Amino acid sequence: VPESLALLEEMRACEPRSVDCQPPLVWHGAQGVQVYDPYGNIWLDFTSGVLVTNIGHCQPEMVQAARAELDAHRFFSYCFATEPRIRLARRLVDMLQPHIGTACKAFIMSTGSEATENALKLARAHGRSLHPEKNVIVSFDRAFHGRTLGAQQMGGYPAAKSWIGNLDPAFVQVPFPDGLHCTDTSFNLFSRRLAQLGIAPQRVAGVIMESYQGGGASFAPEEYVRELRSFCSRHEALLIMDEVQSGFGRTGRLFAFEHYGIAPDLVCLGKAVSGGLPVSAVAGRADVLDMHDPGSMTSTHGGNPVACASAAANLEVLLRDGLTEAAAATGHILRQGLEGLRQRHAGHIMAIHGRGMVQGIHVGRTEPDGTPCPDGALAFDVTERAFRKGLLLFAPVGTGGATIKICPPLIMQPDAVLEGIDVLTQCFDEALS
Ligand code: PMP
Repeated sequence: VPESLALLEEMRACEPRSVDCQPPLVWHGAQGVQVYDPYGNIWLDFTSGVLVTNIGHCQPEMVQAARAELDAHRFFSYCFATEPRIRLARRLVDMLQPHIGTACKAFIMSTGSEATENALKLARAHGRSLHPEKNVIVSFDRAFHGRTLGAQQMGGYPAAKSWIGNLDPAFVQVPFPDGLHCTDTSFNLFSRRLAQLGIAPQRVAGVIMESYQGGGASFAPEEYVRELRSFCSRHEALLIMDEVQSGFGRTGRLFAFEHYGIAPDLVCLGKAVSGGLPVSAVAGRADVLDMHDPGSMTSTHGGNPVACASAAANLEVLLRDGLTEAAAATGHILRQGLEGLRQRHAGHIMAIHGRGMVQGIHVGRTEPDGTPCPDGALAFDVTERAFRKGLLLFAPVGTGGATIKICPPLIMQPDAVLEGIDVLTQCFDEALS
């Protein structure tokens, strides 16, 4: 709205261009499944912030827990132990241990990038403890693991790391078998690519994989990930599942790696672990988490007690209110609605990927030989129209900027989901008329 323009201009004047990437909303408040600006406009939220507010925006018990912690006057840092941090670590360990099947620990930090960065460091330390040349980190094409240097080297968009200069040759990427951009979904491709790159499997210290690829909401085939697990076990490489985006009920399972029936060695957590305040963690095998000496893995603001207390309340609500199960059920309705949209505009939507309450509409067409032709312009047009109609979506992501990601808070009721799909359908109809 015109009133927000002055503030957005101020943002452009004093913040870098890089932060100006989403619809022109001045986020003023949010409650449950709605987002408000300061001028009386309301949006139905199909973003969950950035897949953060799984339990809904500003859930009262979570806010209360943060407020109580502020009143306790102990908000400082990792230098000393605090009860909220210890309790959150215990909660995460209890959630993960049944899936990992061995003693676990959790190291709590603030951002998802720190979680992946620390997983990378642990994998390298673990590899080095076995052999001095066991230092290769394998990740996937089109992967996203954050914006810090190591995280970005593991990322799978070459353009996003062109600024780094001398890339460390011990970071390599292999194709991600999403069935759309890479139609060979057999695990042979993984081994073949490593061989092409001249990397002996024994040199692999770790493989990091998003449980679904954030850019496209794409899952790998189960068989592929099971074979990847065996590869890692055979070669003493750590399997790191990046659950920063996919964890805590989003896909209809508490952790998205559960869909593959595998046990990772390390798991990266962020975003919805806290429901809003800055908390992240790397968690998993205790013997690996214990690789570094006391005092060598601290972060001043890591494990902030206010953030940890509200994260613990957030997880309590998630479990108590059965929101993972709700995500599976409502996600089914969401998917059916999107499949209807795809049939309506078959020539302009290549595929719908995702599970539960995260779905990606891959906008574009597929050539007769199977080559995908993403249509970023159409995807952008649709999200812009949706914004004007009161439906909040991210700017499109993924290959060719052509994937519209749908990720409502898990508490969204089916009628609101259907209302959002109606708006989306109108937007496609108008954009293509
Ligand atoms: N890993 C994944 C899979 C992510 O989606 C993100 C954030 N989009 C990150 C890591 C980085 O998290 P953060 O932005 O909190 O550093």
